[in-house]
Amino acid sequence: MTEASMSKTERRKIEELLVAQSASDGDGVRLKRVFGGGNLARFDPFLMLDEFGSNDPSDYIGGFPSHPHRGFETVTYMLEGHMEHRDHMGNVGQLMAGDVQWMKAGSGVIHSEMPKQVEGRMRGFQLWVNLPASEKMTPASYTELAAASIPQYEIDGIHVKAIAGGLTLNGVAVSGPIAGLATEPGYLDIAVGPAQALLVDVPEGHTALVYVYEGALQIGSDSYRIKAGSLARLSLTGELAIKADADTRLLILSGKPIGEPIVQRGPFVMNTADEIHQAIRDYTDGKLVAA
Ligand code: MN
Repeated sequence: MTEASMSKTERRKIEELLVAQSASDGDGVRLKRVFGGGNLARFDPFLMLDEFGSNDPSDYIGGFPSHPHRGFETVTYMLEGHMEHRDHMGNVGQLMAGDVQWMKAGSGVIHSEMPKQVEGRMRGFQLWVNLPASEKMTPASYTELAAASIPQYEIDGIHVKAIAGGLTLNGVAVSGPIAGLATEPGYLDIAVGPAQALLVDVPEGHTALVYVYEGALQIGSDSYRIKAGSLARLSLTGELAIKADADTRLLILSGKPIGEPIVQRGPFVMNTADEIHQAIRDYTDGKLVAA
């Protein structure tokens, strides 16, 4: 692509930069919350992103014992370590390095996510993706993607893993195994070297988020250096131009906004307060999930 043709293209701008905050969830698991908890409309259709990573077993050994969800999807992506998933549907999943679990809670899931290692490094991400009202009370489902089943691409020396969606990166179409969802999520894990440039074509009007988890990069014509542990939320139109400043690893998340009210109480995300109260009653009464 020539400079002349590139200059005609509108570029997405940084709307907001967030620094991941230390948090604790499950049974004392120490993690970094990148976003989540409040003012979620600006991330629509995404609800939360956590990064977990530690060499110290006391930071992760408690895991996430049995807990419920309703109204959205949870996506766990392991970089290192070994977690075991169990749910009320009888699924048992061993999540190892590079594996992804894409779970639709729908009307209700009760599951646990527990470490199967007692030492060494545990590292990965959990993303929450909202469901439209029309799908919030549909049956739960569970998809496991083994590391080997996740497409990998080498584009201009840039290494790309495509977990979900179809995006175009430096003119090359990349697509992941998760497709056909109402929110059309794109989820890429990218490793890029210093001074390398990426131009990503994200559908117009779709939310675009860039999370840097190693190294540093710049976005568009903004000279600000976005360092590891930071998330950039981009404007909704134009292409996403990224230039790495170092050996850098990043996630690109994109999705079609749902545009409906979001009411969250902990592990339940619905459209109204009444629906949240119903979810809490159903859980308390043992009716959140089908027997
Ligand atoms: Mn969970």
